Amino acid sequence: MTLKGIKLRIYPNEFQIQHIEMNFGCVRKVWNLMLSMQKDRYENNPDCKFVSNFDMNILLPLLKKEYPYLKQVESTSLQCVNKDLSEAFKKFFEEHTGYPRFKSRKYSRQSYQSKYVNHNIKQINDSYIKLPKLGEMKFKCGRDIPEVIKSVTIRRSPAGKYYAMLTVEDENQAFDKTQAQVGLDMGVADLIITSDAIKFPTIRFDKLLAKKKLNWERKLARRRSLAVKDRAKTKKIGLIEPRPLEDYKNVQKAKRMVAKYSEKVASQRRDYIHKITTKLVQDYDVITIEDLKSSNMLKNHNLARVIANQSWRMIRTMLEYKCEWYGKKLVVVNPFKTSQYCAECGYDDGKHELNIRQWICPNCNSNNDRDINASKNILKKGLEQALVK
Ligand SMILES: [Zn+2]
Repeated sequence: MTLKGIKLRIYPNEFQIQHIEMNFGCVRKVWNLMLSMQKDRYENNPDCKFVSNFDMNILLPLLKKEYPYLKQVESTSLQCVNKDLSEAFKKFFEEHTGYPRFKSRKYSRQSYQSKYVNHNIKQINDSYIKLPKLGEMKFKCGRDIPEVIKSVTIRRSPAGKYYAMLTVEDENQAFDKTQAQVGLDMGVADLIITSDAIKFPTIRFDKLLAKKKLNWERKLARRRSLAVKDRAKTKKIGLIEPRPLEDYKNVQKAKRMVAKYSEKVASQRRDYIHKITTKLVQDYDVITIEDLKSSNMLKNHNLARVIANQSWRMIRTMLEYKCEWYGKKLVVVNPFKTSQYCAECGYDDGKHELNIRQWICPNCNSNNDRDINASKNILKKGLEQALVK
């Protein structure tokens, strides 16, 4: 299994910037302390052994006692310093590169690395990621982030911009070629229907958590209206300025809980789609999907439909990058008439209304499941298109 890096631009808030800068300082401190210890030892007794990465880690708790502020930062980031330092020494001994140098705060480039432990690195939604000790942070990245993250390096560029470099597993070689091809039809009741007649159901994660969320939404409405009344009363008396709404702790808590359940729904849906898309990319070499026009999608305001649209977009994005990673091929075809041709004989049976789930082809008598038939047509189009290219 090889590893690869994904670079994210991150947008820390003021508190997070402070913490990041403090962490830069702490890893510098540990690096310089360990380096000077190694240097002193060698100068005092050139025969004594180099202190290993492991032994330097044992020294860390002692350093934390002496410099208590080291306790405030990501502990794995301090272990990573020891690893880097022992690697720098190894290079020096074996490849005769330069002797490791002390680090200065004046370097325009600063960084520290943290390891993944207990879900401390996790994508929250399209624009937020959870980072060790920093909590949730806004980010931008051109692609989706895989589930398995090994470590993160937080870096400040000379221009003062902040980045997070994620190390993720690159499973490029892990998926064997299967010589199999598939067409996918995307639906509402079933999220995906394949040309091999496999149906991946739509799971309404929002409904599973709806009761709890609704409960908090009601609380939020009630608490907010009480707070508004309370403020109006204070204003009327006129002796003091009414508290701003942000100061009503119970309102803020209800707000947070509503947000928490929305996020939970989104993250469950994302995990589910990750599982499906990984399985598809694992099982098939060529995957064909329809190019769904966003203008068509916008017309419908039915909630199930809206959720399906979001899921389809997510499926497409994930398939795009997973196919690229795993060396598979994604073909996107025009959805024109895919639900009216008979996949068996090619007969055009005209438009089938959405409620027609099954139809018998008047030409070849085959009994066509609407969705499976469509996915077979999608696959056919995809294979033709792949040949032309
Ligand atoms: Zn037919």
